[in-house]
Amino acid sequence: MYPWLAESYSQLGHRAQNSSLHHGLLIKGPVGIGKTDFSLVLAKSILCKSAHQKPCGNCQSCSLFDAQSHPDVHRVASDKQIGVDLIRDAIQKLTSTAHLSGNKVLIIEQAESMTESAANALLKTLEEPTENTFLFLISAFPERLLPTIISRCEKVNLQAPSFEQCKQWLASQNIAGVNDDIIRIYGQCPLKVIAQLANKDGITFEDFSTSLNQLKQAQVSSLTLADKWQKEAEQVVLWLQYDLSKLAITGLHNNLLWKLEDKLIKASEALQNPGVNRLLILSDILTDYYRLMRQHAN
Ligand SMILES: [Zn+2]
Repeated sequence: MYPWLAESYSQLGHRAQNSSLHHGLLIKGPVGIGKTDFSLVLAKSILCKSAHQKPCGNCQSCSLFDAQSHPDVHRVASDKQIGVDLIRDAIQKLTSTAHLSGNKVLIIEQAESMTESAANALLKTLEEPTENTFLFLISAFPERLLPTIISRCEKVNLQAPSFEQCKQWLASQNIAGVNDDIIRIYGQCPLKVIAQLANKDGITFEDFSTSLNQLKQAQVSSLTLADKWQKEAEQVVLWLQYDLSKLAITGLHNNLLWKLEDKLIKASEALQNPGVNRLLILSDILTDYYRLMRQHAN
């Protein structure tokens, strides 16, 4: 278990052992802190045949779990919305008797992406669960869930590690390229930092910083950079927000900075729309950024 989640895991594991764990858990917290891994280990301990708080790793249940072929654990995950069919199918599997005659677990990842009818289909099971059934709803955006779903779950608030803990853990994993900026940009969410550093196809934060310096010195145009970065516009917007927050700390406060901060917030929303002109959005932002830097330098 990740060290920053160990305490929560220990508390829930203890309650599972005492049969006092709520059947519906809403496991929430920021993206990239390990909510899914947390849920999987918790599911494994609930299903384990040994009477220990942690999964034994040796019993039939643990072996099946490790082979990802445990018949009593079901996962629902989707890149898009989670439709009613996926939920109905999962509930159908849950209502059958447990194959290993023990507990059953349904894990729904990114639960906020359930459609309204999917959520309503789940509601009945949350209200009247079959025996020995546990539902884990994982979400980084729980406010998007139906209030009726939220009210029927016990909330488990998982949090990102502290800056130091995040830094130490990343160092212990021998992840190359970690620096303080990257840790701060990704809100001390270690798995997000790793995902970013592992993305070899995309631009790195170092490349971004270098190019941004070239922009400041008018060695490259905002349009050229916008063209180069348009595929990763969301990433660039996030990094620019971080860059501006550092500027604000140095005492720079003016209309242009505020206007740009506002533009970046709007851009990160607009970029969710697949039909949007990414080149136009980025070049507009980078032009403003260049103006701001000129003003700052004078
Ligand atoms: Zn076991």
